[in-house]
Amino acid sequence: MFETLSDRLTSVFSSLRSKGRLSEADIDATCREIRIALLEADVALPVVRTFVAQVKERARGAEVSQALNPAQQVVKIVNDELVEILGGETRRLRYAKNPPTVIMLAGLQGAGKTTLAGKLARWLREQNHTPLLVAADLQRPNAVQQLSVVAERAGVAVFAPEPGNGVGDPIVVARQSIEHAKRQQHDVVIIDTAGRLGIDQELMKQAADIRDAVSPDEVLFVVDAMIGQDAVSTAQAFMEGVGFDGVVLTKLDGDARGGAALSVRHITGRPIMFASTGEKLEDFDAFHPDRMASRILDMGDILTLIEQAQKTFDEQEAAKMAGKLTSGEGFTLEDFLEQMMMVRKMGPIKNLLGMMPGMGQMRDQINQVDDRDLDRVAAIIRSMTPGERQNPKMIDGSRRARIAKGSGVTVTEVNNLVVRFFDAQKMMKRMAGGMGIPGMPGGRK
Ligand code: GDP
Repeated sequence: MFETLSDRLTSVFSSLRSKGRLSEADIDATCREIRIALLEADVALPVVRTFVAQVKERARGAEVSQALNPAQQVVKIVNDELVEILGGETRRLRYAKNPPTVIMLAGLQGAGKTTLAGKLARWLREQNHTPLLVAADLQRPNAVQQLSVVAERAGVAVFAPEPGNGVGDPIVVARQSIEHAKRQQHDVVIIDTAGRLGIDQELMKQAADIRDAVSPDEVLFVVDAMIGQDAVSTAQAFMEGVGFDGVVLTKLDGDARGGAALSVRHITGRPIMFASTGEKLEDFDAFHPDRMASRILDMGDILTLIEQAQKTFDEQEAAKMAGKLTSGEGFTLEDFLEQMMMVRKMGPIKNLLGMMPGMGQMRDQINQVDDRDLDRVAAIIRSMTPGERQNPKMIDGSRRARIAKGSGVTVTEVNNLVVRFFDAQKMMKRMAGGMGIPGMPGGRK
């Protein structure tokens, strides 16, 4: 996501790195480059204008700083302005004082609304809410069925019209669903509405009627980030036709340019609240303008990485591993395997690496990272006997041949793994003895 923009901006900054101070001409040239980078990323023109004017004004007025060199100062200004254009503060979901909180989804067909309904439901469930998914899309023959499938995957309940009771009338269904939620003690209701291929009045009217019938606490406009500039005009049409409180960007994984993300908030005045980055239900999170700006400027997204780790591992598991890691004592191939599987649980390695600072330059290598390499290493360790895993020193030539055969790899691969393991063990011992990690069990306090 945002690769083109990210690359362009990073190269603008690197050409500033050698400068002692910024002249007026330097600022002009830099702003010109930033302007091109934004336009190429499909950012809407009015947004580009505002952005560049802001950066220019601040760069001119920038005080000579002891702490930051000129390039860093420009990066900081651009970062601040990106955060601003993306909405500044993270806008959280507003829950109703008297449950259920009603969330209505609107958007074009194919925007990813139904998928999003499932993602949002799963996300809410993880936070101990009890969402109810409502199929108020009665246009598409499969819509109710599709939502039921998504609900099952998300592990939440679904409300679909009873035969003979309001079938065909999404407004009745929406109204009934709220009563149902009250009876069944669902604290959040997510209403999926019908989309069409293009903007049409009937669609808008239906969405507006549902809105009037259920008075949602949040109307979320769901938009596919891959449709580029069209995202802006669609957003405007929905703003006029239905009105909405927040935006959900979908398919950010597929969008190399990402202009929609940078334009929609500025044009509609409504915050981006969530972002979807894949087809799976877990490819979804709240949208944080500051973290997104960091990612665009290749400063990494460590906070998201840490949150993901916290979600995946239980604390005891992590503390136990940290202890072994920092002391190097008793670290066996068994632990190595366990650790690898923990990382694997956090999601595709590519995504994890992408969140580390400075990884932008290594994008090609990262794209070649194959999760199956980890699976091969796991297979090798699994082909070892418990004794071998505890004490890899005993793995001699004939054992290596047996392990290679058992895991379907070459003897060289087994050798490499064993050598890498000894290196890692040595390094951990050195770290534990030399510097340690303050506050970690086994580390220096
Ligand atoms: P709806 O018509 O708005 O309900 O859209 P759907 O939820 O049916 O989604 C349309 C297509 O987009 C489906 O094939 C989804 O799997 C896919 N999709 C939805 N969200 C994402 C996303 O964030 N990334 C990617 N790559 N595909 C997505």
